[in-house]
Amino acid sequence: MTTEAAGPEPVAATAATGSGGASMEAAGAARPTAVAVYVCTVFGTGFGLLIWLLWVQVPVIAWTSLQMPALYLLAILLFVGELRPLLIARGDGDTDRVTVSATFAVALVLIGPLSLALVAQALAVAVDDLGRRGRWQRITFNMGQYLLTLLAARWVFSLTSGHPFCAVTTELAPGDILPALLAAAAYFLVNNGTVAIVVALDSGQNPLAVLREDVRVQGMSSSILLGLAPVAAVAADFSPFVIPLLVLPLVGVQHNAWIAAQRQHEALHDGLTGLPNRELFRRRAERALAQAEGSDRKVAVMLLDLDHFKEVNDTLGHHVGDGLLREVASRVTAVVPEQVTVARLGGDEFAVLVPDAGGTTSVTALAETITARLREPVVADGVRIGVQASIGIAISPEHASTVETLLKRADIALYRAKTNRGETQVYRAEIDQHTVLRLSLLGDLHTALDNGEFELVFQPQVITRTGRVTGIEALMRWRHPSHGVIPPDVFIPLAENTGLIGAMSQRAMESALSTLATLRAAGHDLEVAVNVSARLLSDLELPRWVAQMLRDAQVPAARLTIEVTESTITADPGRAMQVLRDLREIGVRLTVDDFGTGYSSLSYLRRLQPDELKVDKSFVMQMSGDENSAVIVRSTIELAHGLGLSVVAEGVEDQLTYDALDLLGCDRIQGFHVARPMSLPALKAWLDAASLRPVGSPPPWADPVPTPRKVLT
Ligand code: C2E
Ligand code: CA
Ligand code: CA
Repeated sequence: MTTEAAGPEPVAATAATGSGGASMEAAGAARPTAVAVYVCTVFGTGFGLLIWLLWVQVPVIAWTSLQMPALYLLAILLFVGELRPLLIARGDGDTDRVTVSATFAVALVLIGPLSLALVAQALAVAVDDLGRRGRWQRITFNMGQYLLTLLAARWVFSLTSGHPFCAVTTELAPGDILPALLAAAAYFLVNNGTVAIVVALDSGQNPLAVLREDVRVQGMSSSILLGLAPVAAVAADFSPFVIPLLVLPLVGVQHNAWIAAQRQHEALHDGLTGLPNRELFRRRAERALAQAEGSDRKVAVMLLDLDHFKEVNDTLGHHVGDGLLREVASRVTAVVPEQVTVARLGGDEFAVLVPDAGGTTSVTALAETITARLREPVVADGVRIGVQASIGIAISPEHASTVETLLKRADIALYRAKTNRGETQVYRAEIDQHTVLRLSLLGDLHTALDNGEFELVFQPQVITRTGRVTGIEALMRWRHPSHGVIPPDVFIPLAENTGLIGAMSQRAMESALSTLATLRAAGHDLEVAVNVSARLLSDLELPRWVAQMLRDAQVPAARLTIEVTESTITADPGRAMQVLRDLREIGVRLTVDDFGTGYSSLSYLRRLQPDELKVDKSFVMQMSGDENSAVIVRSTIELAHGLGLSVVAEGVEDQLTYDALDLLGCDRIQGFHVARPMSLPALKAWLDAASLRPVGSPPPWADPVPTPRKVLT
């Protein structure tokens, strides 16, 4: 069994495949020098001793040794064995490379000549490393450490058996079995020990810990291979024709190791993308945390989730979804540094482990690189798809010191990131508190509906030109007994997740329509706009119960507007389109809310056939200061008018914006400048004041009725 340095430049890790090896990149400035000095020492000592031995043995070899054919056969098998390594599963997704040359090397060390073993071994290592394009530093180290290993084995053997160290050939006696086994043990220790030291020098780990890990992984197969060495020696002594028989058990060991490595690979990798799976991710993260302990190194965990993946899967089919996941896997892997692990945790959730993460800035920069690469359209199965990803980041030791907590916190950050699609979010304690509050609210939600804690407030909309009030938007509030008024952005998503949204929305619709009926009775002939969430829009029963409620409240269907956002529809486009068509058939009006923030295309607008676009308040609020927002507002108005739709602007907070929108031809206005959302009694008073206003007097919003807004803290 042989172990060798296998990573890049000289690196040192015993793991030859995968990303398990420490690298020079990670090493501090002082480490490369220490590694170089060590490599030179090992090589110098090994070669010095080889030359001395050749000097002593070569003149004698020429005319001794009757067993020459068997000895040469051992040397040839040593050479071939070195080139046919065993891959031993380490249990962390990586494999250790161990070679079956050990059996023949130790056999040759025992019966000699030692110089033949050394030359064969050095040549084999050189050929093998050159074949694998090893760097010179690695090749010299491996040659040197093998020479030392064989010399040490012979030294232990001659010390314990009494055979002279330099004897050209040695005939084994039955009493030499124990010394032979001790020599094999020395082989294992020196071989793995020299490598453990270079790994430790390079990566800053404890050499004993590295050695212990080697024993754990390779102990069993090493024992078999090295235990066979005395047998090979005795066989060679007996007849060269027996030696090939020994190859059979070695092939068996090799085959079993291959199967084990294969099984491990399957158990720790995702079948679709070939990426490490959750379990392997966890093991690597644990190792990274253990290695970073006591140093100032940081370990970062990123959770990445694709936005809209479900829609892709549902609308374009699973094979397109699978193609997309594979493409995402290969893109993310391509943009991260070598020592970073990218894993697929399941579904459309990926995780990235950065074992030596600089600081928050560099981790965020890496996350941005990933999202930027993902944003480039993907062609999966002939379909062009835009991919957006949200990323949540947690960093050790600031946010957590165990893998579980790191993952949990990255997940909390991800949740926050997902609420603003396509965002990167680093964990902060505040978000966590927010999450705790969310959970407690989630528990209260069920009783809130029965306790009548939900209520509607209404915000007027006016015609831009004349200032005449034409309608109101109904907005929901939760008057929580201990947390005060909770805004809908907080509780609507919770209600959607619990399935309570249906019952809540029915109440809201009922209440909005009865409010409208009350206002109509009081002489205010208005329209009401009600927001409809994604979950509700996939309820095929919605049009039926809306029609029933309109009849009950005796409100004409044309007085009701449904507000939907683009993302509401894209959540389940097939059903949503059906439901919206049915609603339009009843005569209900349709507005696309938050226009400009989603993914509308012209063809989609044409299919949807809305009556109105509502420019999102984020653009309206910034239009006087930000040229981009102004352009979006202007083009939305032009687009709507071009399609024969009307436009309403929300979030109008000052006269300047109002005038600008008037100039652009925006049909209607909603915003704090006109009036804040208010309760029914306040609205009635406000409307009465507005309608009593004499012709020519300033519009009612010159002195709006302020509604105190309690905001969730
Ligand atoms: P939205 O439909 O875009 O509603 C407009 C939001 O902008 C309201 O926030 C309103 O109070 C606020 N707003 C109006 N004028 C101004 C202004 O001049 N400046 C600023 N800064 N804000 C203004 P609100 O009431 O917190 O509602 C937030 C969101 O919650 C709504 O956005 C809507 O998506 C959702 N929502 C509200 N009520 C319901 C409901 O009954 N059902 C559903 N599904 N969603 C609702
Ligand atoms: Ca709305
Ligand atoms: Ca809106």
